[in-house]
Amino acid sequence: MARGEDFQKILEYIEKNIEKSVSDLQELCRQPSISTTNVGIKEMADLLHSRIEKAGLSSSINKTDGNPILTANIKGASDKTLLFYNHYDVQPADPESEWISPPFEANIVDEHVIARGSTDNKGNIISRLAAFEAFLAIRGELPCNIKYIIEGEEEIGSPSLEKFIMKNKDLLTADGCIWEDNTTRVDIPVLSLGNKGLCYLELTCRTANVDFHSSSGQIYENAAWRIIWALASMKDENENVLIDGFYDDVLDLTETENILVEKIKPYDGADRVKKFELRKFLLDLKDEQLPRRHLTNPTFNVAGFDAGYTGEGVKTIVSGRGRAKIDCRLVPNQDPKKIRDCVQNHLRKHGFDDIKVELLFSSYPAKSDPDAEIVKACIRASQRLYGQDAEINPFGSGSTPCYIVLRNLGIPLASTGVGRITSRTHSANENLKIEDLMDGAKYMAAICEEFV
Ligand SMILES: [Zn+2]
Repeated sequence: MARGEDFQKILEYIEKNIEKSVSDLQELCRQPSISTTNVGIKEMADLLHSRIEKAGLSSSINKTDGNPILTANIKGASDKTLLFYNHYDVQPADPESEWISPPFEANIVDEHVIARGSTDNKGNIISRLAAFEAFLAIRGELPCNIKYIIEGEEEIGSPSLEKFIMKNKDLLTADGCIWEDNTTRVDIPVLSLGNKGLCYLELTCRTANVDFHSSSGQIYENAAWRIIWALASMKDENENVLIDGFYDDVLDLTETENILVEKIKPYDGADRVKKFELRKFLLDLKDEQLPRRHLTNPTFNVAGFDAGYTGEGVKTIVSGRGRAKIDCRLVPNQDPKKIRDCVQNHLRKHGFDDIKVELLFSSYPAKSDPDAEIVKACIRASQRLYGQDAEINPFGSGSTPCYIVLRNLGIPLASTGVGRITSRTHSANENLKIEDLMDGAKYMAAICEEFV
């Protein structure tokens, strides 16, 4: 039989075995694995390890300073190697009272598996394993070599991942990588080819070691005002960041990236205005302007600030302390540490050298080459299943740690997976439609088939 002639049978195998895939997913979801409270992590790593070995891959549980990282591999027909990344940890389930079915029972309601982790990220894991198993059952081998890395700390910022990857480069070397993603369109797969960076800063100001009676507001500095003035000096009303150097390292879009951004459907602004009761979009942006602005611009966001009295009713004080949290979503090639330095210099230059700046969290932006083989394989796979190209976001809108693979290993990647906007990841009633699990597995199989 010529290569690929049996591919239809592989898709049929996935369909026929969907009940097994659903019960595999339920088994993983019934084991809580909450990284932020360290609940069920070890048990989850053990369970997943045995599940992966059952699928036919050889797997190991690797110790780190934090939660264990699973790796697995299997040889395939071609010399090409495809790396998959997922995570087995989940967000906490509270408030549990808001769930229509208990978060770790993984019951099926209306053709959806309702459970914490059902989409993010255990449904993704099962879609990958179901595809591998289908190849092994029908053809006896995978089309290409597969390597798999599944970490247990994604939901807390992947503190152990970079060190592990740098120590185990050989284990993870590959020609392309499929990263996790939880949102896809209903009709065709969606790919994103990178991630935004994150620079999370805390600004603190102390003008006195006490709060004063506000009758002395004529003679004492108020830390609240100092934070407000400092923030006001950093961005104007047209959304321009006024900090010297903030935009210096922003790369221009390439011609291909410009074309890809143009192809993205305009967002449905009216729908969001209604759903979220928006006053309006920033700068009165029109639907067709939204995707480009959303995907290609960095942000300088005030995540929150506090000072003085913020409780109910009246309390009259001059605040001796103020604090603001700022998060900047960065685009290639902005550097979070350089942004921190720019903010510090800005404060100094504008007479706010009493305001301290601390970098609480940082990660780097990165993007994959849209012409890379793995991206082309994902597009061909979409053509094969749906007769249409996948929709490509050349940058990614979240701050995932995929920059580690892109920057440190130089492996091009595409993020894609099961789930959709209604999957409620991170919130109560997280769910995965059974049909989406099946379509996700088929898409993974088609990508493996095309990546040879
Ligand atoms: Zn998540």
